[in-house]
Amino acid sequence: MKHTGQHAVVTGGSTGIGLGIALGLAGLGQEVTITGRDADRLDKVAAMHPRLHALEMDVTQEASVRDGFKSAASLRGPVTVCVANAGIAEPAPFRHETLDHWRQTMTTNLDGTFLTFQAALATLDRDEWGRMIAISSIAGLRGLSGAIAYTASKHGVIGLIRGLSEEYMGSNITFNAICPGYVDTPVVERNAAQIAESRGMSEEEARDLLARGNRHKRLLSTDEVTATALWLCSHAARSVNGQAIQISGGHVT
Ligand code: NDP
Repeated sequence: MKHTGQHAVVTGGSTGIGLGIALGLAGLGQEVTITGRDADRLDKVAAMHPRLHALEMDVTQEASVRDGFKSAASLRGPVTVCVANAGIAEPAPFRHETLDHWRQTMTTNLDGTFLTFQAALATLDRDEWGRMIAISSIAGLRGLSGAIAYTASKHGVIGLIRGLSEEYMGSNITFNAICPGYVDTPVVERNAAQIAESRGMSEEEARDLLARGNRHKRLLSTDEVTATALWLCSHAARSVNGQAIQISGGHVT
């Protein structure tokens, strides 16, 4: 498998899980376009590695995604690896959930993944090699109390992957979802701070509470998700398609 010269796009590639994957792909020799809304942070992160390239793009805006992919592809070629990672995870008890917050979550996590894959696939011929990877969550496979919009959006992402793997069956493009448990990233930091405040506990106790949500009772590191994404891009994983791969220290049902 030759990675040099391949072009990857990682949405939400300037922080957390996306940043880990972007650096991993760049380390293999791929040219990696990292996207997000925060242009300053994107520029700072792109300066970390000569094969990282910053692109401001909001996954909730169709024109932004379409134009962003077009310009990235014109600079670095067809997007053979696409990691739809951008997402938000803001818990809200269902009784207090608002339609605005529900829509914001669905628009970012589900519509954003739809727009991202559609724009990436528009740069590729069906017989070209390609790897489409979505970052779902264990919340894509089981219900997560207090985060119903998030749960619904991440279930939707897995449905999208399964449908696309059928539609592109027999091509050289695979579609898979990675479903991590709680990973030590800014999302967990923010959620721990929120839990600490609402339940009157320390942030450390709140982090422990989140870690207990993983089957092995510890937070995951971004490296664990990166390794799975890199494996999906390898020749060895050429027949892995339409899967929702759990990384949560044990089986999640
Ligand atoms: P971060 O908050 O660090 O990353 C989220 C990224 O998404 C940011 O880079 C942000 O960039 C980008 N983003 C958010 N909204 C938009 C938007 N409208 N347009 C473009 N980019 C956007 O969190 P994580 O790294 O933890 O999360 C990454 C993914 O992993 C998410 O989909 C999350 O649901 C999923 N996940 C996380 C888990 C965890 O425990 N951390 C567990 C399971 C899944 P910017 O602000 O520049 O727009």
